[in-house]
Amino acid sequence: MAGNWKMNKNPKETAEFLDGVKGKLPASDKVETIIAAPAIDLTTLVAGAEGTPLKTAAENSYFENEGAFTGETSPKALKEMGLDYVVIGHSERRGYFHETDEDINKKAKAILANGLLPIICCGESLEQREAGQTNDWIAYQVAGALVGLSADDVKKSVIAYEPIWAIGTGKTATADQAQEVVAHVRATVKKLYDAETADAVRILYGGSVKPANVKELMSKEDIDGGLVGGASMDPESFVALANYQ
Ligand code: PGA
Repeated sequence: MAGNWKMNKNPKETAEFLDGVKGKLPASDKVETIIAAPAIDLTTLVAGAEGTPLKTAAENSYFENEGAFTGETSPKALKEMGLDYVVIGHSERRGYFHETDEDINKKAKAILANGLLPIICCGESLEQREAGQTNDWIAYQVAGALVGLSADDVKKSVIAYEPIWAIGTGKTATADQAQEVVAHVRATVKKLYDAETADAVRILYGGSVKPANVKELMSKEDIDGGLVGGASMDPESFVALANYQ
């Protein structure tokens, strides 16, 4: 169960959140919990998560480890700080910041090379869904992100299916709609690799997940977890999501 705070919370609010979830998250072998926070909060997040089941994620990184790339964040430095995951290819990054599938693929490789794990996002727009292009588009994004990655790398990675029309809109995909595309993501991985890899890769659904709908979504065969924006920011709500079982 992964929270994505987006450009919300400062270090003080991060510490308050960590106080609020302390002792209330499930053991990581039961449900793995992750918070993805803005870069300025990561020092506080990593320090506060130490010794707890909570894993930590950056919301983006660059694909070079160092150099003249003003304003970017190094995956090597993230690893050295103690981060576990990096979210890449979120639709907000693709849309507002013009990230391409090629960028996302380079980032996935750099993240894995540094011993971090990527949470690779994909998702269609409402227009694409209505035009019947969802499956083709998702397969294209997934294949693009995974170019050149080994089966072992893919097995450790996470893919998040987030229909753009369901993000922050309160419009959740129905559990059946989410399952259908998540199963298609798994089938795409099977086609690109093999059944073992497709079985091992963890696939999340994201888009208006909240305590009231998490159980139904998670009951679906191929949905391994959630990537949650709005409902991950309040400690009580995140604790409820993490303990959905
Ligand atoms: P939401 O965001 O839960 O607020 O819809 C999900 C996301 O963008 O990861």
